[in-house]
Amino acid sequence: DGVEFSRVCVSRRVMVLVNPQSGRGQAMSLYTGPVLSMLTEANIPHTLITTEHQNHARELVRNADLSQWSAIVILSGDGLLFEVINGLMEREDWVTAIRTPLGILPGGSGNALAASVHHYTKAGTALGEDLLLSCCFLLCKGLVCPLDIISVRLSSGPRLFSFLSLAWGFVADVDIESEKFRHVGAMRFLVGTLLRLASLRTYQGRLAFLPTREDSSSASISSSPASHPRSLFCSSVRCISHVQRQTSTSENTCHNSNGGDFLQSENESKDDKLPDNLLSPIGDPVPRDWTIEKEQDFVLVLATCHSHLSEELMVSPDAQPDDGCLHLLYVTAGISRPALLRLFLAMEKGTHLTCECPHLMYRRVRALRLEPITKPGVITVDGEQVEYGPIQAQVHKGYARIICG
Ligand code: ADP
Ligand code: MG
Repeated sequence: DGVEFSRVCVSRRVMVLVNPQSGRGQAMSLYTGPVLSMLTEANIPHTLITTEHQNHARELVRNADLSQWSAIVILSGDGLLFEVINGLMEREDWVTAIRTPLGILPGGSGNALAASVHHYTKAGTALGEDLLLSCCFLLCKGLVCPLDIISVRLSSGPRLFSFLSLAWGFVADVDIESEKFRHVGAMRFLVGTLLRLASLRTYQGRLAFLPTREDSSSASISSSPASHPRSLFCSSVRCISHVQRQTSTSENTCHNSNGGDFLQSENESKDDKLPDNLLSPIGDPVPRDWTIEKEQDFVLVLATCHSHLSEELMVSPDAQPDDGCLHLLYVTAGISRPALLRLFLAMEKGTHLTCECPHLMYRRVRALRLEPITKPGVITVDGEQVEYGPIQAQVHKGYARIICG
């Protein structure tokens, strides 16, 4: 498989994007150290690009000639990949652009995707430099898996695309409040959690969601089938034939090479690209087949696409990169501080779901809507703060691709 990756790279290079400000500001030294030596040894031609400001990567991938690149690899935290995915989706040729293989190397303070990608290999826990080496090894192997994308709609402003998480309440507050501790690296989340725990608060709101078929028919937590990665080379070929098939039909429901389906019309405007067929307009009631929770006080609402929320928080152990669902966890008001602390400690091993905590709910969903009533507050998408207010989201199964497995 490594050979096939190299064959692709003879004519095309890997774009390696480094955010020198991420984490403790160590990403450049990680590049010049282990990353460069592993890529050199594996014979992977690449070009290093350091970002100079926020949204630099987003602008860059929005305008790049993608035919020149075999993959885009991010050496940073999750924030830089969020920029890249949104930049790809903003392009005229978003249908092909979003199929560019993406890679992640942990260089930030929030390395959720890197920790998840490592977890999917079923190897034991790896932190810090071990995690970097594991992800670098996966990059050298060059196998590509489908990756779910979440379409996120706010009451105003442009639509966003997410690959990781949507958070409100405790988790979102910790993420944003702990920004000032970024010099301590991943420890910032522990410090932030303890501080927020000391001043625990609740958040009033409404939550509604569309459970997955399996989730509505069974109360138990069933695990999803593992995905089968393919080589970068093979999947590029499949991707091209998929796109050719797609452009030859004016309006058609297509099945992409990963089993995901979508409706694609010829005269789409920028805004109805990748239609959110499960969502009704944010001001209207949710569709009839949704579950509506009663209006209540929450401590946190968190929806994730991946197993890890940070290197040491395994929030949804059974998640797979293309399981087509959001893993929705929410904690209702009334939980004590020690019980909440126990939940977070259990997340290190991913055992919180078996704690039988009566305040913790876990559902697998395909879409959700959250309407916060408590003001002011913080909502984050992939760890980045977004406009506070009603928000809804839908998963698009296997729509992007990630170097994984
Ligand atoms: P971390 O995990 O440390 O937060 P991220 O990759 O999430 O690392 O990056 C944090 C933020 O920095 C993101 O919002 C990203 O857009 C922004 N960013 C990217 N490049 C730069 C840069 N050169 N200077 C400052 N901020 C940047
Ligand atoms: Mg970040």
